[in-house]
Amino acid sequence: MQNGQQPIFILKEGTERSHGRVAQSNNIAAAKAVADAVRSTLGPKGMDKMLVDEGGDVIITNDGATILGEMDIDHPAAKMIIEVAKTQEQECYDGTTSAVVLSGELLKKSEELITQNIHPTIICSAFRDGGHFIAGKLEEYTQDSKDLLLNIATTSLTGKSSASIKEHLGNICVDAVEALSQDGVVDLTQINVVKAVGGDAHDSELISGIIVDKERAHSAMPASVSNGKVLLIDFPLEVKSTEMDANIQITDPNQITAFLEQEEGYIRELVKAIVDSGATIVVCQKGIDDLAKHYLSKAGVFALEKVKRSDMEALSRATGAGIINNLEDVEDALGSCENLTEKKVGELPMSFFSTPNSSAVTLLLRGGTAPFVEEIERAFDDAVGVVAVAYEDGQVLTGGGSIYASLSRDLANHALTIGGRDRMALEAFSQALEVIPRTLAENGGLDPVDEMMALRKAHAEGNHHHGVNVNTGGVMHMGEAGVYEPKRVVAQALKSAVETATMILRIDDVISSRKAGPRQG
Ligand code: ADP
Ligand code: MG
Repeated sequence: MQNGQQPIFILKEGTERSHGRVAQSNNIAAAKAVADAVRSTLGPKGMDKMLVDEGGDVIITNDGATILGEMDIDHPAAKMIIEVAKTQEQECYDGTTSAVVLSGELLKKSEELITQNIHPTIICSAFRDGGHFIAGKLEEYTQDSKDLLLNIATTSLTGKSSASIKEHLGNICVDAVEALSQDGVVDLTQINVVKAVGGDAHDSELISGIIVDKERAHSAMPASVSNGKVLLIDFPLEVKSTEMDANIQITDPNQITAFLEQEEGYIRELVKAIVDSGATIVVCQKGIDDLAKHYLSKAGVFALEKVKRSDMEALSRATGAGIINNLEDVEDALGSCENLTEKKVGELPMSFFSTPNSSAVTLLLRGGTAPFVEEIERAFDDAVGVVAVAYEDGQVLTGGGSIYASLSRDLANHALTIGGRDRMALEAFSQALEVIPRTLAENGGLDPVDEMMALRKAHAEGNHHHGVNVNTGGVMHMGEAGVYEPKRVVAQALKSAVETATMILRIDDVISSRKAGPRQG
């Protein structure tokens, strides 16, 4: 039989395949749908989304990465857009919504070019060239981050539920980053966050040291210890239970007394070894026997029991104490704590270990309700992250879409020097960049057409840092409005948007051997 006479099946039955323009437009539509889902949250006046999971738990957020992370997305091209958000979050802590919206807009513009019969290969190569060109231009608009760290923090915090405490939380972010920086590098893993529901968000504070949300093991123990020697143990201060079940035959009442005395003696020995070592603070990962608590109280020792492993490790870093599993070389394992005080946070007793000589810091986050505290924590994570990025890189840009407007103009001028279809693609790229200021205006309840006209006029007059200030409602110098963001956030958003758009555009065949799920692809 001749080839071509009869169709040859190379794919297993049931494989789904879409081809050429159909595949392209499906992918573009899916990517745009993801961008549209988060678009309304962009900027300080962006709306929030309420996410409800299968268990009925509710998250209220306008954080792009959180929204996309919670959405159960199935389409392969849509998943690529979600990767953009993840990368942005990992590299820069912020700018996730911008990166996704930008990717969606680039694809939307490409679709228009494709309908004008411009081949995706041409679009991709023009987008890549344009990307290089604007990455170079970005340098011209960069400023030194010194003195602008608080602005970076408050810009990131604006528009979140945390906006009411943005100055307060912003200062905490800057203090935390400065406390954690070593040789110009900020180790954010050293920040501990303790959340306390109840009370006012303004009472949130940064402590140099560690907070353990536990009270002392016995009320007769001192409620505070100065210049304490800290012992961290991960075994129980209890009578050892034997491995085997033993039956003790007691024939004489005296034997009971002897048996109990022996146990008591063992506990007394343990406590004596601890007290003799000079330890005045004992933190135990396991339980402490009542009798041991009694003896420790009598010796004036502050003890905590059943403390989480993560807290033990944080205490170890902050106090310099080793976590030990026997009492042999206790003295060597002791750490130090300038002050330990048990205090009530709202209704909850907590133990505050103050260690100003260590780099450990703890944020005590307060707020009226659990979802509010959770959203403040997410906002804080982003804000402290961008402050760290700005601090490490030393480079910031004005926000409010100002730099996107500058780059759009630069790219449009550059396109004029290039001929043919490449020029059309570069012009499309230039227009796509305007999506950020335009969306900020839209979400801010401003007239996007008026704002974009005013913005273009300002930039034509050489005002590179003019953007759309949604708080005051008008085009102005964003530095004067105090709106700044790290350069890395914008550079990364542009880079991922170009990479993802070109990757999606180059696909002309989708072959899917997945079993059809309950959801539509
Ligand atoms: P992303 O997830 O991209 O960080 P956000 O919702 O946090 O999205 O919005 C960030 C954008 O909001 C940035 O472009 C930033 O410059 C802008 N922005 C912040 N404050 C203002 C303001 N007062 N006026 C206009 N834009 C602002
Ligand atoms: Mg943000």
